[in-house]
Amino acid sequence: MNSITMNAPAKINLALDVIGKRENGYHDVRMIMQQIDLCDELTIYKEDRVNGSQIMIETDSKELPVNEDNLIYKAAELVIKRCGIKDGVRIKLKKRIPVAAGMAGGSTDAAAVFRGMNELFDAGLSAEELCEMGVKIGADIPYCIMGGTALAEGIGEILTPLSPMPESTILIAKPGISVSTGYVYTTLDSVGVREHPDIEGMLGAINDGNLNGIAARLENVLENVTQEKYPVIGSIKQTMLDNGALGSLMSGSGPTVFGLFDDRKKAETAAEAIRRSKDAGDIFITGPVRQIC
Ligand code: ATP
Repeated sequence: MNSITMNAPAKINLALDVIGKRENGYHDVRMIMQQIDLCDELTIYKEDRVNGSQIMIETDSKELPVNEDNLIYKAAELVIKRCGIKDGVRIKLKKRIPVAAGMAGGSTDAAAVFRGMNELFDAGLSAEELCEMGVKIGADIPYCIMGGTALAEGIGEILTPLSPMPESTILIAKPGISVSTGYVYTTLDSVGVREHPDIEGMLGAINDGNLNGIAARLENVLENVTQEKYPVIGSIKQTMLDNGALGSLMSGSGPTVFGLFDDRKKAETAAEAIRRSKDAGDIFITGPVRQIC
């Protein structure tokens, strides 16, 4: 095998709570993570080294670095060192997940490199070993390696797999603004958490396969902070709810908003209304995906 192609799915947070802050600045979180079928595509080729360089990245995205700042590069470098790989790798990234959107686009690409190189080079690393390597470059990477539906605790790296989310349509809308994750967490530190999400109730609803129960408990403690600065987030949520979403929430630190629907037609109508309002440029109709590892 000389190449491998991997799908790298985006994630949303069905719930996101912040329960503390460590001395090193990291936050302790409790998050319910769900992968969706909006995917980047990565092809990893075994190649001879070009001018001595062992890792080469190509992408159709104009927003991303192709050097060691790309999480793909960092992941490939870790696998090469760990496994003593002598070949070069060329990694081609088709970027479909909006960048800096709160959907773990970079983390999922890195996770696909860990899984893909493990297979391509027959390295025999376990999922746990891949996760241990992954957390060194990003707290969300272990989750992206594991995939599916999961509770993430600690800084995001302590994972409990959950039952798959029930069939549903998930509408994604990302407004054309950039949100600094650092700003959102710093502001939350100064204003504090107003109300903690009902994570236990959400776990119960997921366990019961109860889509209405899940929709009723969607909550993200970062949402107020981001929405106060960018009211367009509230506007997109309202449009989703007005058009039949069972629930709607901002993902991660934003600015992406998602809506849960039990009817694809309603999601299509909501997508059209958001398009007309010009509140969001990137709109995708997706659904949940199941565990990949
Ligand atoms: P999260 O939900 O984990 O906070 P995000 O969706 O908000 O992530 P990303 O799309 O992962 O954000 O990008 C965050 C930053 O990481 C960007 O500024 C980008 O330049 C950098 N980055 C490095 N590698 C990648 C990659 N392969 N894909 C996307 N962003 C990358």
